[in-house]
Amino acid sequence: MNIILLGPPGAGKGTQARRLEKERGMIQLSTGDMLREARNSGSEMGVKVARIMDAGELVTDEIVIGLIEEKLQERPGGGFIFDGFPRTLAQADALGDLLARHGQALDAVIELRVDDDELVRRISGRYTCGECGEVYHDDTRPTKVEGKCDKCGSTNLKRRADDNPEALKTRLMEYYKKTSPLIGYYYAKGLLYPVNGLAPIDTVAQEIALVLDGRPGS
Ligand code: ADP
Ligand code: AMP
Repeated sequence: MNIILLGPPGAGKGTQARRLEKERGMIQLSTGDMLREARNSGSEMGVKVARIMDAGELVTDEIVIGLIEEKLQERPGGGFIFDGFPRTLAQADALGDLLARHGQALDAVIELRVDDDELVRRISGRYTCGECGEVYHDDTRPTKVEGKCDKCGSTNLKRRADDNPEALKTRLMEYYKKTSPLIGYYYAKGLLYPVNGLAPIDTVAQEIALVLDGRPGS
């Protein structure tokens, strides 16, 4: 099964993708994580995208489609959760073509619906483990022991450079201008499943499970 988690920055895509990995053995493909890795490694592409990411703008379709293509080649059997990809109609078309070329299909697009004020609260309280990538929040999901990751015990907890009010404004604008048309695109393909992303993390996870297990043929 291959699914997309669609929603604005801070909607909970990464949080839910990690749960789906744990609970269903699926693989999270986050283009944001891949680009951050490229930056940290200091590769030519990483250097090229750094300024764009810090400003909250989208990097080119060509770069992210290339990253996804590599991953699909590495694991032709599928079982992917696309997180933060596609973000434009051109990326959505490219994903359809890539999956078809690998004999795969898209099974569901889960749209996480969260209002803008809540997104600002979520982004401003977000921190992640620099070692294992677990996602936390100052108020709604703090680590059990302050300063220490629940999952791997690392004390390397970080805040993202683009989780600031200025970049968030640009990221939201990019979402509404370029990514939100995908809601209609996937609705028309009969693949769209909206979920209330405002509910607590466990409830959102249950709603997603209901969608995935309740689909015809699943
Ligand atoms: P995205 O990947 O869509 O940008 P994240 O999964 O990183 O979003 O979540 C953004 C922030 O909101 C994180 O700090 C996370 O802990 C928190 N969060 C995620 N889902 C929920 C939820 N259902 N309720 C409250 N906080 C949440
Ligand atoms: P994310 O981790 O999904 O919030 O992404 C962080 C940043 O990486 C975005 O603000 C963009 O600059 C870039 N990015 C991630 N995924 C994409 C994508 N599919 N298309 C274009 N830019 C992306």
